[in-house]
Amino acid sequence: MSTAMNNPVIETEEHRALRDAVAALGKRYGRAYFADVVRDGRHTDKLWAEAAALGYLGVNLPEEYGGGGGGIAELAIVLEELGAAGCPLLMLVVSPAICGTVIARFGTEQQKRTWLPGLADGSRTMAFGITEPDAGSNSHRITTTARRDGGDWVLNGRKVFVSGVDIADTTLIVGRTEDARTGKLKPCLFLVPRDTPGFGRSPIPMELAAPEKQFELTLDDVRLPADALVGDEDAGLLQLFAGLNPERIMTAAFALGMGRYALERAVDYARTRQVWKDPIGAHQAIAHPLAQAHIELELARLMTQKAAHLYDAGDDMGAGEAANMAKYAAAEAAVHSVDQAVHTLGGNGLTHEYGLASMITAARVARIAPVSREMILNFVSHQSLGLPKSY
Ligand SMILES: Cc1cc2nc3c(=O)[nH]c(=O)nc-3n(C[C@H](O)[C@H](O)[C@H](O)COP(=O)(O)OP(=O)(O)OC[C@H]3O[C@@H](n4cnc5c(N)ncnc54)[C@H](O)[C@@H]3O)c2cc1C
Repeated sequence: MSTAMNNPVIETEEHRALRDAVAALGKRYGRAYFADVVRDGRHTDKLWAEAAALGYLGVNLPEEYGGGGGGIAELAIVLEELGAAGCPLLMLVVSPAICGTVIARFGTEQQKRTWLPGLADGSRTMAFGITEPDAGSNSHRITTTARRDGGDWVLNGRKVFVSGVDIADTTLIVGRTEDARTGKLKPCLFLVPRDTPGFGRSPIPMELAAPEKQFELTLDDVRLPADALVGDEDAGLLQLFAGLNPERIMTAAFALGMGRYALERAVDYARTRQVWKDPIGAHQAIAHPLAQAHIELELARLMTQKAAHLYDAGDDMGAGEAANMAKYAAAEAAVHSVDQAVHTLGGNGLTHEYGLASMITAARVARIAPVSREMILNFVSHQSLGLPKSY
């Protein structure tokens, strides 16, 4: 399934070696491990720790802080290959990709030294909270507010759907501070340790078979020291966008891995399942949609590689468009691939034994989060095509 990837123009020898090594790790754990973890309500600690020990979790973080010195291209390979083996690690999207990137690019020297080595070696995990109940897709409307009180910050607000807050040492919260001159609220990022007084969390019951849980968060007079603010108070938006491009690229990788996993199960099944004279894979009604899913996944990967390349080359603007397009394409490809995989297995597509049906819900996550399909179409309509805005 990977002949198209043997083109060194698109991926280097090192990238291919990384793919192979991560795929081998993923295979040793496999879907059975992931399914057991979900069934028992545990977390993927063992795989997380082993991936960390092999240097995969911090592959994108700077070497001087214990990382691998690579970029989002490498971290996306790690996530895609683990997902293709049936065990995607959602917190890779959040902890090293968003939070690690923001701290590495904009954090103070002290914040880098405090956080990056732990994020790189997997001993610390960080969650990321931007979504609010009354803002949703419109992040300009968030109302979590930070005000200065002496040398401290005091945060008040609410967040929803924040993943992994229970396993994260700290959550990077997007709030707003009031501009002293204009009175306008500007976005700012704050490090909120899990057990800070006033920082409440309750799990949202989700119809998702995943080890990571989503939480509603309450921030009631959460008092933080001055150095909880990441980077510069006046560069909040720039810092935020620096984290959001990796988030989209990593969500694309998450979707690609899931789509590839489902497709491989379906192809295996279609090759051997025989109810007439030939295996069902000989029927074009089964074969063509699988071929189509394969093409869509390959195309989406190409856009993901482009986005990662632009981002790692320092082109934030170019990466913004490509990362949105990659997330869109990969989410759609994954949704189609999983849907077709379930259909290919007939009744077995809905059994626990084959474990594909729950992926229908899981694949939808990439269509909704971190930015929905419609908001990407809005972005492309306005930014790429110059069409007027309706909202
Ligand atoms: C499994 C999961 C994990 C998540 N993890 C995190 C996390 O770790 N941290 C975090 O901060 N958030 C997280 N989220 C939240 C996620 O980013 C939001 O769900 C997403 O941004 C959409 O916001 P919303 O759910 O409020 O939908 P809404 O904004 O209410 O949108 C609902 C629907 O309306 C459509 N819509 C809205 N506005 C427009 C418009 N102008 N034009 C056309 N259509 C429009 C949307 O596309 C969508 O289909 C997670 C969500 C899920 C499901």
